[in-house]
Amino acid sequence: MTKGNINVSVENIFPLIKKFLYSDHEIFLRELISNATDATLKLKHLTSIGEIKTDYGQPKIEVKIDKEAKTLRIIDQGIGMTAEEVEKYINQVAFSGAEEFLEKYKDSAKDSGIIGHFGLGFYSAFMVAEKVEIVTKSYKEEPAVRWICDGSPQFTLEEATDKTDRGTEIILHIADDSTEFLEESRIRELLLKYNKFMPVPIKFGTRKETLPLPEGAAEDAKPETVEVDNIINNPTPAWTKAPSELSDADYKEFYHELYPMQFEEPLFNIHLNVDYPFNLTGILYFPKLTNGLNIEKDKIQLYQNQVYVTDEVKGIVPDFLMLLRGVIDSPDIPLNVSRSYLQADGAVKKISSYITKKVADKMVSLFNENREDYEKKWNDIKIVIEYGMISEDKFFDKSDKFALYPTTDGKYYLWSELEEKVKPMQTDKDGNFVILYATNADEQHGYIQSANDKGYEVLLLDSPIVPHLIQKLEQSKDKISFARVDADHINNLIKKEDAAISKLNETEKESLKKNIEEAVNDKKFSVQVEDLDSSEAPFLITQPEFMRRMKD
Ligand code: ADP
Ligand code: MG
Repeated sequence: MTKGNINVSVENIFPLIKKFLYSDHEIFLRELISNATDATLKLKHLTSIGEIKTDYGQPKIEVKIDKEAKTLRIIDQGIGMTAEEVEKYINQVAFSGAEEFLEKYKDSAKDSGIIGHFGLGFYSAFMVAEKVEIVTKSYKEEPAVRWICDGSPQFTLEEATDKTDRGTEIILHIADDSTEFLEESRIRELLLKYNKFMPVPIKFGTRKETLPLPEGAAEDAKPETVEVDNIINNPTPAWTKAPSELSDADYKEFYHELYPMQFEEPLFNIHLNVDYPFNLTGILYFPKLTNGLNIEKDKIQLYQNQVYVTDEVKGIVPDFLMLLRGVIDSPDIPLNVSRSYLQADGAVKKISSYITKKVADKMVSLFNENREDYEKKWNDIKIVIEYGMISEDKFFDKSDKFALYPTTDGKYYLWSELEEKVKPMQTDKDGNFVILYATNADEQHGYIQSANDKGYEVLLLDSPIVPHLIQKLEQSKDKISFARVDADHINNLIKKEDAAISKLNETEKESLKKNIEEAVNDKKFSVQVEDLDSSEAPFLITQPEFMRRMKD
């Protein structure tokens, strides 16, 4: 028997990294811009703690295409690298300079927004480039250097006398099979997808801007147009600000910034903000449920330190909130891992239950702040709330404070109000609170009318998940039962004292009942002759509630 070590050399591993590190080739741009952002944020941090004496200024990142030369360049004005640092950070695959920085400055830099941490991002450049150059000049007094590598483990490193200003330029010589990345429209699409809310301004080309006319300008004066940087991102998106800094209009504006194709206003927003035991910020919106609602396309987006990651948030956001819109930003959500792992991950579970709690709390305050407005929006939000009530126990427990039970005549009750106002009228002989409800106000109109005439309230529960909601409520609350308005339970209710006097005497009623029963000729149904002067429904045909449920 022989034993030995498998020899893992860079030669073997390099092509693997190139091909399989990320299945999605397009993310190379996200990675390189993340590095440029990190370099700029490090500069910001070092100037803020006085380690760099110069002014931070207004550094930006620039992305440039040169179709002739077949290059794509990412240029930053960040801290740059010395020759020694290139050796250390670039030539050592899987050594993260970002992690090292955070470790070194851990007391002051934990909120600096630094993105990198695997030490692999840079190499994604080789998924689309046949040759990569780094030209970089550190903020330290050292000559600039040029590193060139063609994707083999060999590289060259030399002084770059032509680079005089601080920062890094990454030059990708785009491979023949990746020329799509030399198209302006493709790069713009990627920048808008991944980098739209990154914290450092990103310039991509220029655009014309018309200057406002100076005050007192002649009437026929022509406004001047100037060429300005085309900045494609918003470095300070709403979710990075404190709720106290934002008005209702700001939240709405951000909604449209996130979903430029959505024209409806959102109904409510929920600002998420937690830094212990995990870091998470974000804004969720209740969209207006309209026919044009594009649930497939405009989904909740997940970010990490303002870098777009995905809009597949299943597992992170509880299922019942998948109908919401908005963003979640958390550096603590493990990425590049399988879905099943994600669902079992402790941190992710905590995040999901935090979001549930936060949404419940917000519903309570929205209800308390403006009940009238909340009632108006109930029809649009009920599906989310009711789904939450049947699927998340913690949400159900809190729902007494914000779940509404509308009646067919347009009133909205909280559960406690139902018990207070409706229960005394609607108990059966065993003392159960019998809740009458309709699922379709038009079809069940006659029954509703008749119940109302007797002084009973009928709830209008018309969402598709109502059978589950009823089951949940019956299981959780004591001595209650639901009966659809066309079920026979209504007979068991203790009658109101002052019920109207019937126009028919007992013999007349008996014979009417018999006649109708013969006509219906089905033992599943029973006939109930009304005591009331109800011109619309002199009698009702009912069916036991349990039989109806069996059919449903
Ligand atoms: P990570 O970002 O996870 O640390 P990367 O492979 O993306 O790993 O980058 C490795 C390291 O190379 C970075 O941590 C950083 O130290 C250095 N680096 C990469 N790009 C730049 C840049 N534009 N400016 C300065 N340093 C950079
Ligand atoms: Mg990186």
